[in-house]
Amino acid sequence: MAVLMPRLACLTFLVAVSLVPAVAHIPLSVNQSNIVDGFGGYGYLPSPGHSESEAQAASVTEFTCDPDSQRERISTHCGGIDIRPEIKTENLLRETMKLEALSRLQEQALEYLALRLASVSKKNPLEITRPECISANSPTWAKIQANLISPNPNAINYNFRGRLQALKESIDPKNVAHGMLWMKRLQVASVSLHCNDTTSSHYEEGSCSSIEYQMKRLANQYPVLWSAYGIESTRIEVVESNLDILVGMSTMSDKDEVFPNIATSPDSRKAVNRMLNKAWAEGRDIVHDAVTSDEHDDYLEVERRFDQAFSDGAGASTDTPMGQAYKRFVNGVQFAANGLEATTRAQMNNLCSYSNANNPRTHALPGLSNSQKISHNIRDFAANYPSVIRQALVDMPQTERALAQAVLCESGAMPKLRLPKNCSGVSGGPLPGSAAILVDQISGPDWPYGMPQRMKISQPTPTQPVEVSLKVNLVLGPELQDNCPDQNHDGVLDCLERLVNVWGSDANGFLNCSTGQVPSATLWQNMQTSRVVPCPDPVDPGLQRSPGVKFKISFQTHTSDDDVPEPKVTIHRCFNSSIPGGPSNQGSCKKVDQFNLSRCLTTWTIGVPRTVENCQREIAQRRLHNPEQLNRADSGNYSLTDSPQIIRHEILHALGLPEEYQDQKRPYGHIGEHDSIMRDGRGPYGRIYPRHLNQILAPVKCRMEDE
Ligand SMILES: [Zn+2]
Repeated sequence: MAVLMPRLACLTFLVAVSLVPAVAHIPLSVNQSNIVDGFGGYGYLPSPGHSESEAQAASVTEFTCDPDSQRERISTHCGGIDIRPEIKTENLLRETMKLEALSRLQEQALEYLALRLASVSKKNPLEITRPECISANSPTWAKIQANLISPNPNAINYNFRGRLQALKESIDPKNVAHGMLWMKRLQVASVSLHCNDTTSSHYEEGSCSSIEYQMKRLANQYPVLWSAYGIESTRIEVVESNLDILVGMSTMSDKDEVFPNIATSPDSRKAVNRMLNKAWAEGRDIVHDAVTSDEHDDYLEVERRFDQAFSDGAGASTDTPMGQAYKRFVNGVQFAANGLEATTRAQMNNLCSYSNANNPRTHALPGLSNSQKISHNIRDFAANYPSVIRQALVDMPQTERALAQAVLCESGAMPKLRLPKNCSGVSGGPLPGSAAILVDQISGPDWPYGMPQRMKISQPTPTQPVEVSLKVNLVLGPELQDNCPDQNHDGVLDCLERLVNVWGSDANGFLNCSTGQVPSATLWQNMQTSRVVPCPDPVDPGLQRSPGVKFKISFQTHTSDDDVPEPKVTIHRCFNSSIPGGPSNQGSCKKVDQFNLSRCLTTWTIGVPRTVENCQREIAQRRLHNPEQLNRADSGNYSLTDSPQIIRHEILHALGLPEEYQDQKRPYGHIGEHDSIMRDGRGPYGRIYPRHLNQILAPVKCRMEDE
């Protein structure tokens, strides 16, 4: 078979000559720390024009490590050569090849560290010393020089700008405050769900792993806040106490009093310090109450309060206590950023130790070959820079990616890079095939979308679209049961007849427009109207893959709820999933009214004073003009007033997608794109992305991997 000229390291497979690996011995300047890279903060920018998304970046780690895939990857990397069958898969990767992949990953890490330095350092010009393991001719080093060290306006490219911006945002004082508040909230949730005690009856595996993942993500997003990055805890405490002071100061009546010459007058300084201390005590209580509250609205309130104090403080004179509180908070974040700069420089000095088989960490391991030691280092590297590796995989051309994936598999690094995945409860088989696959998943891996999945996936031949069909069974809730017959005996309950048509044509139209299966569809336009419109432009060409995915969503209504198959959805006159106490409370119109009254009295903005009478009038108005706002669906309960937009989101739960927004019960964080339909189910522009299709089809893929 004719092949391209294989790379040097690949020659060993053809000529079976063992090359003596050239390992550079590089002196270490500092000890290895356990500093990890930015997770959200790194940016994940695939290319200009594409949206940023952690979820998209994470999908590059979804590959298998079986021997056949490994051989194929190495063959791809080596220009399509046939690998001699007598070479065992574990011997395929020579030390030189591991070092080749590692050096590419080290370059990416250098880029990340250089950007992080640029985002925190006040030094001008920025100083970066090239680590020895990075070649002076490396394109990455050239980019760093052109973009950061001696910037040339023509050299700044989209990825550099975008990534630098993402890192700058992770040390923005206002963002840092939000990161700190949300982390406190997650810690409280972790305790209340007994996440440290798997034997507790309150322990929920799904919730706890979500919380843990969210904490990790948050810690990585705001490196200035966590000692895991090597920042001294005293620096972090300074940020925390100054956050409390700013919040507390906002409640004090004399916060805007002018104290002239605070810097030079001891009396002024003393008076202001007294106020700052009082504000600290006050603020600590406010923050504590908010992060421990059962009501998520209370938590959101402290975020709003902080934002207000932050902008008031920014506008206040530094001769006032409010201005001083603001200045101290901002300086506190800078103090933490200075710490981050020091640890980042140390990491840069340490970068080359990963390609040194005899660095102090691996040197201590007895009986390992150099090649095994390098694998150990790669595993270490993956633990410290998971996002750098994900980003590198996104950026690499195919031949380079093939080698990197093979090396990561071989080193055992993949468990540190992959997000949790679970295929339990799925029955099926590979596509295409004559029979449809029944996806029958009773409880999903992600808490708590809670919708049993039961859909059919079929594809008779490889050239036809994969068809995903789902029948949603609707039953009437208690306050509808006696009032909704099927008088014309067409199998559809009369009160649902119109809705089922509107919901069904919209859901199918939306999904099949997105995947390019139809040119136009009957889509929801506003509260009253659905009409036939041309499909909007696809959000991502990857959705309109070949041979394509076609959806067939149908609703079946049932007069009684006996023996109704899953997925079963109860239809209510009123329903609000935010009400505690289960479906009997959540689906009671009286309870929903009471709930909305208390929301109105505490949080709604209405043009008149918030009295019971005014609020009742407001609720009556909204019931008439905007009933959607009073109800809140979940995947197993809809209201008669739910718009097709909400149904799209709920249907996607039934197809297996989890939430992507954050709230008290669902601490996933903003994993998806800003306009992902699973992140914002109510807005008119919620979209699906290729990764959503992958996830819907994942049960089939999982099954294929198992077999
Ligand atoms: Zn949802």
